[in-house]
Amino acid sequence: MNPVPVLVDAHAHLDDEAFDGDRSELLRQIQKAGIIVVNAGSDLESSRFSLELARNWDFVYACVGVHPHEAKKAHPGYIGELTELARDPKVVAIGEIGLDYHYDFSPREVQKEVFEKQLLLAKDLGLPVVVHCREALSDVLEILKKSGVKKGLLHCYTGTLNEARDFLDLGFYFSFGGMLTFKKAEDLRKVAKGLPKERVLVETDCPYLSPEPFRGRRNDPTRLVYVVRSLAGIWGISEEEVAEITRNNAIELFGLEC
Ligand SMILES: [Zn+2]
Repeated sequence: MNPVPVLVDAHAHLDDEAFDGDRSELLRQIQKAGIIVVNAGSDLESSRFSLELARNWDFVYACVGVHPHEAKKAHPGYIGELTELARDPKVVAIGEIGLDYHYDFSPREVQKEVFEKQLLLAKDLGLPVVVHCREALSDVLEILKKSGVKKGLLHCYTGTLNEARDFLDLGFYFSFGGMLTFKKAEDLRKVAKGLPKERVLVETDCPYLSPEPFRGRRNDPTRLVYVVRSLAGIWGISEEEVAEITRNNAIELFGLEC
């Protein structure tokens, strides 16, 4: 029997090639640590892999979707393929999807179109969405409002508290990762402090964004505890309470059976 899960990593990329050398070993460690992982897809291939991981490991759940970076590569049949994948009960959200005006790896018009189509899919399937947003909060808000999608996560949130209000009104959640532990992230910690606790989740976004003291190295879900510790300090409550609150929020958002 598995140990009782205590933490939910709301956003990870265990399908990433950074884990190709030791993925199974790492998954066993995550299982032993009692951490549940919601793995995000970035394109069709990684969405398929994400679902394969979720089928093989009961504590892993999958999101399927096309990331704004990959939007320009989405071929005409991608919505059909995502629909097929999303029928699996281990798929808990459409993601990660959104807009990235920082890198602009795909033209903005293409990013918007691919984002809108996947929101429509999420609405049709009654699934929440996992949103990647970089320097595009007002467009993301406008498109989300139009879409009618009522539930989702703004992962790795870096906006202000003021900007968060509209998303709170929409019914959205926010997740924080390793950046919360960075020395210069005082503003981000203030945002985390100001948000209602019942709308906050924790994530690693691994293999990226390792928390202090591992900054710059490959991240993985076993390091989620450093984010939890940071949030416990910010909220002035225990790590166990942060674990419980963020786990319950993840269960509520994704409908996890744990
Ligand atoms: Zn991500």
